[in-house]
Amino acid sequence: MVPERGHVTTRTAIQARLDALRDEIERRNPAQPEFHQAVREVLDTLAPVLAARPEYADPGLLERLVEPERQIIFRVPWQDDHGRVHVNRGFRVEFNSALGPYKGGLRFHPSVDLGIIKFLGFEQIFKNALTGLGIGGGKGGSDFDPHGRSDAEVMRFCQSFMTELHRHLGEHTDVPAGDIGVGGREIGYLFGQYRRITNRWEAGVLTGKGTGWGGSAVRPEATGYGNVLFAAAMLRERGEDLEGQTVVVSGSGNVAIYTMEKLHALGANPLTCSDSSGYVVDDKGVDVELLKQVKEVERGRVSDYAERRGASATFVPGGRVWEVPADVALPSATQNELGEQDAATLVRNGVKVVSEGANMPATPEAVRLLRQAGVSFGPGKAANAGGVAVSALEMAQNHSRTTWSRQKVEEELARIMGDIHRTCHETAERYGVPGDYVTGANIAGFERVADAMIAQGVI
Ligand code: NDP
Repeated sequence: MVPERGHVTTRTAIQARLDALRDEIERRNPAQPEFHQAVREVLDTLAPVLAARPEYADPGLLERLVEPERQIIFRVPWQDDHGRVHVNRGFRVEFNSALGPYKGGLRFHPSVDLGIIKFLGFEQIFKNALTGLGIGGGKGGSDFDPHGRSDAEVMRFCQSFMTELHRHLGEHTDVPAGDIGVGGREIGYLFGQYRRITNRWEAGVLTGKGTGWGGSAVRPEATGYGNVLFAAAMLRERGEDLEGQTVVVSGSGNVAIYTMEKLHALGANPLTCSDSSGYVVDDKGVDVELLKQVKEVERGRVSDYAERRGASATFVPGGRVWEVPADVALPSATQNELGEQDAATLVRNGVKVVSEGANMPATPEAVRLLRQAGVSFGPGKAANAGGVAVSALEMAQNHSRTTWSRQKVEEELARIMGDIHRTCHETAERYGVPGDYVTGANIAGFERVADAMIAQGVI
């Protein structure tokens, strides 16, 4: 049982309370290891702020924060091109709406279950708070695997998924976007079905739309671009510049591709990309236009890229991309893709900065090892917040029925990433852990959400 609530003042009492809460969460949410990991990572950094601001320890604020406001699970039946019926499971976890409508992507991947969606939704609360914009936290998805499916199959799946989900959405209620397995094509099919069912042109109900029908300039690029800006800011704190640095990037999807595009633009050299079958190292630097063609147009694999690229690129089947020496590492594929051994390899090879484009790609052991070795570490909830930030700008454009120029959105993105970096950095200093961006991000995000929750009463 969680010890009785009340004004706990000593650090030991606070730590005991946090430990008990963590145990309680693991007991009440069995078989959700990623959710436990994400909660633990936040709770482990909150003791200093709870000691400084006793109002945060009462009444039951933390207990409310770790419990989603609403969890929706539904059946998604659909027919493949041969008329066979498949049944997938759909999820939407509406975690916290203290700061605005639930906001967070949809993930289509066979590994999706409730625990994965809850971990992503929990992270999203703090990430969205860090942007300074009016968006709450949510996440959703399905265990549907779009790999190898025809456009018609993906369309039928999306239509069936939205047929149930639509009743829970709305521009003032819950606004999904893309994530793994959900890009422009899927958002188009989802939006079409929402419009058909509701008979409403409600542009602000989904973000990541095409620019011709309500989408924002720079939304596809925003997560990758934003992470590169965050990594550049961390390098500047070390008295260095991104220009001329070599970079190891994992993944080859939306985040990875635009990460590499921005690296090239700023004079850095991305050496690698990867997918679940292995990685490619390209001595000349990854050719982003070719990778886009292979991945986004032909829906191929990184091995196809290596084959087309010629002598400079080598495909390493099943290999660990982190074995490629580089100054900077930007994990941009999936959770827990960078473990302790990988971190040790990076440190041995002289890495200076690791910044998370993906959500929770580094394990807690890897983060600890990197920090102990003096590597600057940017946690995903700060470093990859550019995507959701531009989604919020897309909502703003939709509400006002205007379209911003590419330049304006890029300037806003740069400003927001600069603010997030500064907030994390200053918060870490304020709480006596300079350079600890994990603690800085968690506390700064927590303070904003907690203040709103307290002001709005026990709900
Ligand atoms: P995509 O689907 O576009 O790309 C995902 C990439 O990661 C693919 O290369 C995929 O390879 C690889 N990948 C996925 N799962 C695994 C796995 N289990 N093992 C190895 N490789 C894997 O997704 P995004 O680029 O949009 O998302 C990447 C990460 O960034 C995710 O963690 C997501 O939550 C995070 N993120 C995304 C945002 C966005 O705006 N899109 C915003 C903030 C965070 P394969 O094709 O072989 O599966």
